[in-house]
Amino acid sequence: ESVVNRIAAGEVIQRPVSAVKELVENSLDASSTSISVLVKDGGLKLIQVSDDGHGIRYEDLPILCERHTTSKLSKYEDLQSIKSMGFRGEALASMTYVGHVTVTTITRGQLHGYRVSYRDGVMENEPKACAAVKGTQIIENLFYNMVARRKTLQNSADDYTKIVDLLSRFAIHHIDVSFSCRKHGAARADVHSVATPSRLNAIRSVYGLSVAQNLIKIEASDNDPSSSVFEMDGFISNSNYVAKKTTMVLFINDRLVECTALKRALEVVYVATLPKASKPFIYMSITLPPEHVDVNVHPTKREVSLLNQEVIVEKIQSVVESVLRNSNE
Ligand code: ADP
Ligand code: MG
Repeated sequence: ESVVNRIAAGEVIQRPVSAVKELVENSLDASSTSISVLVKDGGLKLIQVSDDGHGIRYEDLPILCERHTTSKLSKYEDLQSIKSMGFRGEALASMTYVGHVTVTTITRGQLHGYRVSYRDGVMENEPKACAAVKGTQIIENLFYNMVARRKTLQNSADDYTKIVDLLSRFAIHHIDVSFSCRKHGAARADVHSVATPSRLNAIRSVYGLSVAQNLIKIEASDNDPSSSVFEMDGFISNSNYVAKKTTMVLFINDRLVECTALKRALEVVYVATLPKASKPFIYMSITLPPEHVDVNVHPTKREVSLLNQEVIVEKIQSVVESVLRNSNE
């Protein structure tokens, strides 16, 4: 059974970046205002995510890493969001099958926290009382028991780049949260963003001035139940922006996703409207009724499909086109 679990878990946690994404989403779900990530060997040796969120209650620790256990399923309506967020209560469990997970956590108002380790879905020991400052820290030694997998995964520089890219994306969307991402032993953080009310500030601190100074704000919405219902806002690059490939940072209902159809459609608009411009930088946040979002059932796929996707893509395309034309006059 353990082997079956390990294979299944390896599907969920294919690379270190998938573990980081799950851990950071948990920290966000716990209302954290500050999230720090520390990574050793691209995450193959160690991933540490620390937050200042509401913490995990003592009585929840024994089942924390059991498959399909989640604290996020209290109301019937939540079933809808479960569907839209893919596999639930699966992330921490999976991590304990491909690695060794240590949790240190304190709930608000408590005098001390608890530390406990997990392997193969179960607690290794009773939670031990310990000093803890705030929130939750989860340390993961990934793939420690999977020598073969570790060999095939070797390329820690590439893994680290993916983790930095992921944190950069989170940081420019969740601008009320401070993020940092640092390599073990490094003095400087590679992502360092302080909570700010200004999205442009966040983009400048994460992607740099050369990106932030070449952006145009965009907005679009529709509220016609017979065609599409959505709200979109974001920033798109102008003709002075220079890059060899498209950066598309897309959040739908506050979840980091990918939508290839939308990305391609926007690239087409850039080529048609600003033929001399480089590939674009695009940040978009789209809000839709949750039942209109269908996240691919496979947990490792970030690709979404939307109800009325063609209508929405066309509407966003035309807004982007007119914004680019005006900017170019
Ligand atoms: P899910 O997020 O789908 O509920 P996970 O396996 O990712 O499942 O996490 C299991 C549970 O562990 C969560 O429902 C939550 O109660 C708790 N949890 C995990 N990480 C944190 C965290 N950083 N802060 C508070 N609670 C957490
Ligand atoms: Mg989770």
